[in-house]
Amino acid sequence: MEKRYKFRIYPTQAQEAQIQKNFGCCRFVYNYFLAKQIERRKLSKENSEYAGLHDTTKELPRLKRTAGYEWLSEADSASLSYALCDLDNAFKKFFKNVKRAQAPGFPKFKSKKWQLKSYRCKNRPGRKADHHSSIEVGKNQVKLPKLGWIKCAVSRAVEGRILSASVIQQPNGKYFVSVYCTDVNHSALHKTNMVTGLHLGVKNLVTTSDGEQFANDRYLKKSQAKINRLRRQLSRKPSDSKRREKARKRLADAFDKVSCQRTDALHKLTTKLVRQYDVICVRESQVSEMMRNRVFSKHLSDANLGEIIRQLSYKCQWYGKTLVKVNKLSPSVQICSGCGYKNTLLKPHHQEWNCPECGLCHKRGINAAVNVLNEGLRLLESNNVIDCRE
Ligand SMILES: [Zn+2]
Repeated sequence: MEKRYKFRIYPTQAQEAQIQKNFGCCRFVYNYFLAKQIERRKLSKENSEYAGLHDTTKELPRLKRTAGYEWLSEADSASLSYALCDLDNAFKKFFKNVKRAQAPGFPKFKSKKWQLKSYRCKNRPGRKADHHSSIEVGKNQVKLPKLGWIKCAVSRAVEGRILSASVIQQPNGKYFVSVYCTDVNHSALHKTNMVTGLHLGVKNLVTTSDGEQFANDRYLKKSQAKINRLRRQLSRKPSDSKRREKARKRLADAFDKVSCQRTDALHKLTTKLVRQYDVICVRESQVSEMMRNRVFSKHLSDANLGEIIRQLSYKCQWYGKTLVKVNKLSPSVQICSGCGYKNTLLKPHHQEWNCPECGLCHKRGINAAVNVLNEGLRLLESNNVIDCRE
């Protein structure tokens, strides 16, 4: 199985300069070839004129030898190839969307400002057993191509075979390395013979069909006043000044804190669920549709419901558990889990209701979770579901 390990790195001044050079060269290569593709499209007005990855890869060494572009050789060459892959993937996604008649999303130029900066580098294993490979993780340091050993907070042992690594700089200036490994063995967690259905929401992040509720801590809401204050401070600073840069970093730090709090809470939540249950049923993500609601969208993005499903699906795969995704159109909140009566009068603010048919008293979230569980078990029995372990 594949796994990513993300660690914070502390480059020296020289290493930082080289990292920035790599960011810049990758961005340049991406933008240069994107501009070329746009030019080709303008001349022909047909997608058939698209130069694929094969052509751009052949053109890159020629560009490096051209007078005025020699500085491209100073960057890690594999990372430039990866930039071409990224561009090719962006175009493939665009063509696919055009075919499906969805909003196409034409590839955009990469900007130097206000973007997460990153580049990827490839691990070249040593040719002989005693040779070193180009990416290695040591005790408190990590080795990367063109950079050598960098001080690194290695918080856990890296298992498996290293394929590649990404170097990332967040808007608040912190550097991270993300090491991508394959052939990682996960020992399955012991079986508990428990099944559950989940109802995801904004007030309670997760309600299980057993009645357990995990409250939404709303980290963004808690930090909103501070973020607003920092935004006002930033807007008052003169452009291109040192004080503006400092204020920008402070704002980015505040956002980073919210993001860290949220990630930490979600990981704890999903790990607990995967440990506790053998089969977890969850409704397929409706998040993108719900995000269209402008009142809800801010709270929803703070809750990050899509991330819960993503984490559950890979953790179930790692630890030998089963995740059943129930169709998003299947009945949930309005249906009585006891008799199947549909209560069309139920409004979003109704937290409790009595079924007029069978008289059961329902709590909104728990009733919905039980419905998800019933639908999930039905799917499992009819073998209509893809087992996550396969
Ligand atoms: Zn009923």
